[in-house]
Amino acid sequence: MSGIQTDNPSAAKTSRGRRWFWLVGSCGLFSALTLGFSDDRVPWMISRKVAEGLTVSRTQAVPEVTWSAETPESVWQYLVIHHSGTREGSVQSIHREHRQRKDADGNPWLGIAYHFVIGNGSGMSDGAVEATFRWKEQLHGAHAGNSWINSKGIGICLIGNFEKEPPTKLQLRALEQLVTTLATRHGIPRKRLIGHSSVRSTACPGRLFPLERFRQLLPEG
Ligand SMILES: [Zn+2]
Repeated sequence: MSGIQTDNPSAAKTSRGRRWFWLVGSCGLFSALTLGFSDDRVPWMISRKVAEGLTVSRTQAVPEVTWSAETPESVWQYLVIHHSGTREGSVQSIHREHRQRKDADGNPWLGIAYHFVIGNGSGMSDGAVEATFRWKEQLHGAHAGNSWINSKGIGICLIGNFEKEPPTKLQLRALEQLVTTLATRHGIPRKRLIGHSSVRSTACPGRLFPLERFRQLLPEG
């Protein structure tokens, strides 16, 4: 006997049938994949629509961030924007530095002067918003250089030196969400969203910070 040929006709028929089955089956599968992924024309990759679907459902699964304090919230009337004036930083690094400072009476600061810090990817994740102990415990700030604004203003510091380079896109997006949430909750109108330089003579939050853009997000009041 040579080779693997068979002279049994029914066996040959079965073998041909199997080949046709696999051939047709494979074509069908390929067509289905091609149709299913036709928007990207890359059948072996996940389609854009599917990917977007996954992203949306994952986003929806994340609970909404409300930045609620741990105690009943005080009456806040201002939102005061700062930059750190540094290339990098975090709540912890600013907290350490501010604990070295003393007020006009010589008393040491409690710690970080701000209520919120927004990272730029150096020291904290880009666009991450972190509430400090002053927000969690609803304490006055130490950021404005003005006792009235310190007692009524929510101090928000973005890491970066906006005299030299602008905030990152993720910082701006995070700040947009933060100020609209806080302003809505506390009824803060447009004119009370201010930069540090509106309170005292300083470059903060820097010439490249788009303050007016954020004011436009709030009602005139
Ligand atoms: Zn400032």
